[in-house]
Amino acid sequence: MDEKLEPALHNIQQRNIGETEFIQAVKEVLHCMGPVLSKYPEFTEQKIIERICEPERQIIFRVPWQDDRGEVQINRGFRVQFNSVLGPYKGGLRFHPSVNLSIIKFLGFEQIFKNALTGMPIGGAKGGSDFDPKGHSDNEVMRFCQSFMMELNRHIGEYTDVPAGDIGVGKREIGYLFGQYKRIRNRYESGVLTGKGLSYGGALVRTEATGYGLVYFVREMLAARRDTLEGKTCVVSGAGNVAIYAIEKVTQLGGRVVACSDSDGVIYDDRGIDLDTLKQVKEVDRSRIHRYCELQKHARYRENGNIWQIKCDVALPCATQNELTGKDAATLVNNGCIVVAEGANMPTTPEGIEVFGESKISYAPGKAANAGGVATSALEMQQNASRDAWTFEFTEHKLAQIMKDIHDRCLETADEFGVPGNYARGANIAGFVSVAKAMESLGLI
Ligand code: GLU
Repeated sequence: MDEKLEPALHNIQQRNIGETEFIQAVKEVLHCMGPVLSKYPEFTEQKIIERICEPERQIIFRVPWQDDRGEVQINRGFRVQFNSVLGPYKGGLRFHPSVNLSIIKFLGFEQIFKNALTGMPIGGAKGGSDFDPKGHSDNEVMRFCQSFMMELNRHIGEYTDVPAGDIGVGKREIGYLFGQYKRIRNRYESGVLTGKGLSYGGALVRTEATGYGLVYFVREMLAARRDTLEGKTCVVSGAGNVAIYAIEKVTQLGGRVVACSDSDGVIYDDRGIDLDTLKQVKEVDRSRIHRYCELQKHARYRENGNIWQIKCDVALPCATQNELTGKDAATLVNNGCIVVAEGANMPTTPEGIEVFGESKISYAPGKAANAGGVATSALEMQQNASRDAWTFEFTEHKLAQIMKDIHDRCLETADEFGVPGNYARGANIAGFVSVAKAMESLGLI
């Protein structure tokens, strides 16, 4: 790290004690900022780094609700509104027992740069709760969402802050949240949430967008190496929304996904994951993936297995933060993997990133490679604002173009700053400079 940045980092660490994931995300960005501050000395004068690392607003609230037995339950709700120079705050809500302030802050921080990279007018935020929708009835999930929105509603709005889904928040949760917002505010404000159902203002392709966008990005990474997805063996960790639609697009583009996973284990199917079965297990039955092997008898399940030990050409981490360690990265490199692109947010540990950096692997960070989800959310906002609804083909074409543009921008920026082929640096620098320039123009806010 550039020594000019040491005092700022020290200060951020002192003021955010114990926020491990947040500090990890900050360090990863600051690590790339030395040459940026040399090129733009005004960023130092205006304390852009210090300002960007301090959220504009953080909201933490109690979420009381009653379970089906009538017992009172208490969860904690969060919304961290990180930066709004480029547009209204935008970013998902995560419902997962691991959620705490550090995790929401790391996600919100990453979201600033990701959203900037899309080139769309959206600021960065993230929110969520330590509530776990898994194991709760639809009615319990509804009561939780209604209570969550009881507080959240006063902080959001189509021109203020536009939440969406993330882990544990899909169409069902967004529906309950939107219903409660509409009821409290007496406003049919379609643009207040994205990832909505198609029957009430949702947009085609939003469901598929993160996974599809990731694979479009991979297509560009391979093209930059004069290669294609045709015949490539892929592994995709996770089995949620991002993983499912990444598997779908890889398959459509001629690749073969042989493995995916959940927090219990890994499934391996050498014929290529059968999507209808996977969707049935995950989207219809809301079951765990070991059930896939009951329906596809030839497939194998390994409890607590490590998916990164499976030999592949392309690895797509689509589960969660810090799921791919330095050791896993070394295994992928030794097994001849050529492309790693992140569908999840910060799935690779700092040690893993270092291993990729020293290898010949093309490595794309989540803030670039998984930006298709939020970009398509911005397309949903556009459609809501104009009371329009676009076709699947038209929207998917736009998504593919956005991913290509992000890809090219990362590479051009990496070239400009003397680190050709380094997507991680390219993404951090390009995203940061867009936000910093807007901050400069808007004055000290
Ligand atoms: N949660 C997604 C992300 O990490 C999507 C956010 C959105 O659509 O606002 O980017």
